Order: sequence, then structure tokens, then C-alpha cells
Amino acid sequence: MPPANYTLNLETELQTTATGPNDQPSDPASPAALHMPFDNSYARELEGLYARSNPAGSPAPRLLRLNRELADELGLDADEMSSAAGLAVLAGNAVPAQAQPLAQAYAGHQFGSFSRQLGDGRALLLGELIDRCGRRRDIALKGSGRTPFSRRGDGKAALGPVLREYLMGEAMHALGIPTTRALAAVATGATVQREQLLPGAILTRVAASHLRVGTFEYIAARDDQALLRRLADYAIARHDAALAGTPDPYLGLLQAVAERQASLVARWMGVGFIHGVMNTDNMTISGETIDYGPCAFMEHFDPEAVFSSIDTSGRYAYGNQPAIAQWNLARLAEALLTLIDADGEPAEQRAGAVVQAFAEHFDFHWTTVLRLKLGLDDASGGDRALADDYLTLLRRHRIDFTLAFARLADAAQGNNTPLRTLFGGAAAALELWLKRWRERTLAIGKSPDELAAALRSANPIYIPRNHHVESALAAAVERDDLAPFERLLRVLQHPFDEHAADSALAEPAPAEQTENYRTFCGT
Ligand code: AMP
Ligand code: MG
Repeated sequence: MPPANYTLNLETELQTTATGPNDQPSDPASPAALHMPFDNSYARELEGLYARSNPAGSPAPRLLRLNRELADELGLDADEMSSAAGLAVLAGNAVPAQAQPLAQAYAGHQFGSFSRQLGDGRALLLGELIDRCGRRRDIALKGSGRTPFSRRGDGKAALGPVLREYLMGEAMHALGIPTTRALAAVATGATVQREQLLPGAILTRVAASHLRVGTFEYIAARDDQALLRRLADYAIARHDAALAGTPDPYLGLLQAVAERQASLVARWMGVGFIHGVMNTDNMTISGETIDYGPCAFMEHFDPEAVFSSIDTSGRYAYGNQPAIAQWNLARLAEALLTLIDADGEPAEQRAGAVVQAFAEHFDFHWTTVLRLKLGLDDASGGDRALADDYLTLLRRHRIDFTLAFARLADAAQGNNTPLRTLFGGAAAALELWLKRWRERTLAIGKSPDELAAALRSANPIYIPRNHHVESALAAAVERDDLAPFERLLRVLQHPFDEHAADSALAEPAPAEQTENYRTFCGT
């Protein structure tokens, strides 16, 4: 998160984004020896919404990690990507011939107040690749140096936050939650000045797109109806192609984003994830999780849990996330308003109804998530009360959210001991609830083993626990030791499989440590 003096309104920079000196790549990096078949639909279709810019380059780059599986999915040759030619691209020292690096423009509501101009201050879109499944994916460098949107920032990223984004994104992906992903982490060999001097790094990020609610707000605030329509059509073509040509595609787009966000936030909450900085510039149109800054996973269940050092009012607390998603959607609705047909009813009312309906959509998805977490793959009227009563128990007795669900699988097979141990002094209350849950699960007609299998596939054993994440990052930053990071990543890539050798990674931190845990922005 930028410091407070960061929110300068640089209208002068805005003027340069389309035609000024920054329109031409500054200081071009050398052409890359590597062939990457980029297409550049954003650059082609959305002029006025970006500034061309080149990566600053890295003095002594070192590949820390390449996501070989993802490289393959993108149709890239992993060996080539980890060669010197690949590293040059990932480090911003060379630009592939078909790339057209650019910094995207966007605005955003940060903690409720509007900034007309944010934009990629430390990121560059290299271009888009069509992956092996035919999906268009953005490939972007994060931490690659200053852009016309950098304001007072240095455009750089420190190693810790880069590895953190890598780990968190890959963990979320393995948990089945839509997210941007990490293709590579590179150490630049330069230092970055934060509160102290830190090693610099670059993350290569892959996204379904980087369109944000804030992208729409950027244009709406400038009253450019033609560009707004172009952006909305672009978003529809990219994410909701079925809407093209329908009677009211822009209302449809709002609806589609609302639906994706309702599902996304329910899934976040199902694994105890707290995004930490749900500003409108950090909320995607695609429905992918983006910008792993001060995010954290909850340990004991607490709807008020907040770990971000800058979120002093708890605006982005665990339990507030659905309300904030809805608030952000209202901002998207406002930005789209002039495009929405007044079809007998004012556009405000039609868009407002979509925003209103978010609450119901979220509730539906949340109930679905909870049912699955309880091993229920059919629906019965009392399920939500059953789930809510369990959550109340967890809250009252400060029980670890992840383990409370993971250990239901043992209970399903007749072994209550792991859960009882977890509940400690609250075991009597647990027994009463388990009795109700058992009765309900009987109705599904599954054998104990089948029920346990369903529970094990819905409830992870491993989440990126804050203390393990911190110690893995500290080893990398302070001792240049990537082994703990690699080990944690390996486990998090298979979060539902128990590995005896890694059982410590499933355990919560001591309570005092969790109480004092704070996360910081500053990727
Ligand atoms: P974030 O906190 O990642 O959502 O970023 C908010 C805004 O601050 C975005 O416009 C970023 O590009 C910008 N920003 C954050 N850190 C830096 C940095 N070190 N240099 C330049 N811009 C930055
Ligand atoms: Mg951001």
C-alpha cells in the first residue's frame, strides 16, 4: 500500500497517457532472443487506457522459481523460459518481439475514498497469450520499475512480498479458488528501499485479464462515453462473450461480475481467507482474486478478524467481505450507468436491483460452501442453521477454522478424538452439535468412508498459515534460503492430501502469535 502522501491527483500525467512523451516506450530494453507469441488486444482496442512503458531491467537477475506446470499450460517451453533468454524476459532485461509492454490506467476507491488516477505504478502488461485451452491470459511483470503511473513510488517490489504473492496465489489455485497466478519469481540483484534496504524481485503474473472495477471508474470519471462503451464491449468479449448482441449487455455485464464476485467471496470465506485490501482497484471483472498484499488466512474463527496494519477500522475484516464486495459493485454500477438502457425503468433502478440482489447471491453461494464443508451434497432446510451453529461454537471457543472442518472426516469414520482434542474444554458443546450433524448426514445415505472422502475433498488440511509463510519468507530474504519456501509451496499445492512428514505445517500458531500478527502492503 502506498504511503498516505501517495494519492496525488496527477492530471498532467493523465494527459500524457495517450499522446505524450510516455506514449513511446522509454529506454527500450533489448529485444529478446526468446519467441513468445503474444497477442495484444488490450493495446489494440483500448487506446486511452494505458501508457506504453518499458521495464527498467535488472542488474544481476537470478531465477528463483519458474512455475513449469503453468508455463506448459500457457504453451511456453519451461526449459526455454528458465534459460538465459527466458530469464532476460522475466527480469525485464529483454522484451519479446511480439510484446507491447504497457501500464494500464485505472482509478479506484481506496478505503472508501476515490482516486481518479492510480494505474500500474509498478507493473507492466507484456501482452496476452492464448493458452492450450484457448483461453486468453495476460502476462504481466510486477516490480519491473517506474511507469507513468508511478507517482512517487519506485516501481519496484521487494523479494518477500513477491514470494508471498507467489505462494498465496498458488495456494488459492490449489484450493480451487479463482485467482491470478505466478509464472515466475526473479531476484533482480538490486536493492529496494523500504523501511530498510531489501532485496528486489519481480513477479510474473498471469491473469484472465487485469480489468478491474477501477478501470471502469477511471473512464466514467472522465465522461468519455465512447471509450467506456469500448471498454465494456472489450470486457464482454473477454469474459462474457454470450452477452454480446443481447438486448442489454451492459446490465448483463454488471450481473455477471456480481455473480462471479458472490461466488468468489464465498469461496474465500470457506477457506478463511481475508483479502485485506478490497479497494475497487483490487477487484477484478474476471472474478479472479488479485493483489495479494496484506492478505492472511484466519486461524481461530472470528468474523472480525483483520490482520492488515493499515486497516485500522476493520473495513476489510473477514466477515465484512461480502458487504464490501457489494459496495464495490455499486461503484461498478455507477460507472456503467450511462450504458444501461432505461427500459421502461430508470437505469439507476435496474442497476440498483442487481447490486441489491448480490446479498442473496452471496448467501446462496455461502450456504453451498458450508454444505460442502459439512459433507452434505444434497440440500435440506435446516442446513444453514446447522452450519451457523457450528460457526457459533468455533467463534465462542476460538477454535481453529481449518482444523474444525478437516477433522470432521475422522468423526465421520467414528473417531471423535481429533476434534475433541481441538475443542478442549468445549468438548461437551461439540458432542451436542455432532449428534445433530450425524443425524443429518445419515439422511444422505453415504457410508462413513464415503462421507469422510467427501469431507476430505472439501476441507483442506493445509492453508498458508501466517507463521509458516512469514518464516519461509524470512529464510529467503534474510538468509537467501529458499528451501522453506519450496517446502511450503509443495505442501500447499496439494492442500487436501495429508503428508505425515509435513504435519507441523497444518498446525495453528500459538495464540499469542496470532493475536499480534500484522500484515503489510508494499509489494
Ligand atoms: P495496491 O496497494 O497494490 O493495490 O496499489 C495501489 C496503487 O499504488 C497502484 O496504483 C499501484 O501501482 C501503486 N503502487 C504501489 N506500490 C508502488 C510502488 N512501489 N511504486 C509505484 N507504484 C506503486
Ligand atoms: Mg492493486
